[in-house]
Amino acid sequence: VARKQGGHQMKFWEPSLNEQIKRRVQIELQLKKAIERQELRLVYQPQYDCLNGNVIGFESLIRWRNPLLGDVSPVEFIPIAEESDCIIEIGEWVLQQACRFGKQLHAETDSPLKIAVNLSSKQFADVHLCATVKHILNDTGMNPNLLELEITESMAMDAQTTIATMRGLKDIGVKLAMDDFGTGYSSLRWIKEFPLDCLKIDRSFIMDICSNVYNHSIVKTIAALTESLQLQTIAEGVENEDTAKILNGFGCTIHQGFHYSRPIEEHDVSNTFRILTRSVGD
Ligand code: C2E
Ligand code: MG
Ligand code: MG
Ligand code: MG
Repeated sequence: VARKQGGHQMKFWEPSLNEQIKRRVQIELQLKKAIERQELRLVYQPQYDCLNGNVIGFESLIRWRNPLLGDVSPVEFIPIAEESDCIIEIGEWVLQQACRFGKQLHAETDSPLKIAVNLSSKQFADVHLCATVKHILNDTGMNPNLLELEITESMAMDAQTTIATMRGLKDIGVKLAMDDFGTGYSSLRWIKEFPLDCLKIDRSFIMDICSNVYNHSIVKTIAALTESLQLQTIAEGVENEDTAKILNGFGCTIHQGFHYSRPIEEHDVSNTFRILTRSVGD
């Protein structure tokens, strides 16, 4: 559908439709070769428990640096990868890398650190998912109990299929986390019926918890609910001390966010683990 020409004022703040399509096509083309050209890497962001001053694990986050496009955010390229089907290959690569690194980190630190991996909805719907996860765990020697797969509310197909997939994964021994909790539509049902180990409260609720009375109440309520259900809860996007204090007051003590650390490169992870374990928890 062609957009009407003209409208000069629009051009100042929005790339033309033509430019948007061009970028999309470029991303799709470049992404297909990104794995073999070794343009992808994972960075890791610590999850910190204020209760005892321990890092409990790291979330792996994908990064893509392309010679033509520069750094492209996963927020932009993951949806394109999903639509163009290369997400399955990328998702397998991510799992393989994260498990290889997790195994290495456990040896280096001698600590049972969790490694969290984001799954895309196509991956979650893939009938080979369980077999792939099993194969990669065997291949890398990663402890299944220390691998946590992050899924989102939007991935729920019908409840039966979703539960069956989750059960299959749980049978392998991996943990399941609900990512971006609160942004979907079936939140309470997820908590009640699905075999979750962990719930990650979306950053949009956490960021302005100091000033927004609604988010303050919402997070307080979620924290009380998950505590009484003995479901581990992680607050995403903790950027400052004030936010951390409020969360701790709610009993929500496991935090992930820039206040503790940005996502870091693989070679810095064990060092960051040691520094954080000593310093933040007073
Ligand atoms: P997510 O899984 O909810 O990841 C958290 C995002 O929040 C990350 O952005 C992280 O850098 C950012 N973040 C962490 N702490 C803070 C904070 O204190 N303040 C702010 N403003 N942001 C914070 P990132 O790395 O750009 O990833 C964005 C999304 O891309 C992820 O959201 C996830 O949905 C997706 N993604 C990333 N890696 C993968 C992957 O390997 N596979 C799949 N399927 N999706 C991925
Ligand atoms: Mg995540
Ligand atoms: Mg998240
Ligand atoms: Mg998020």
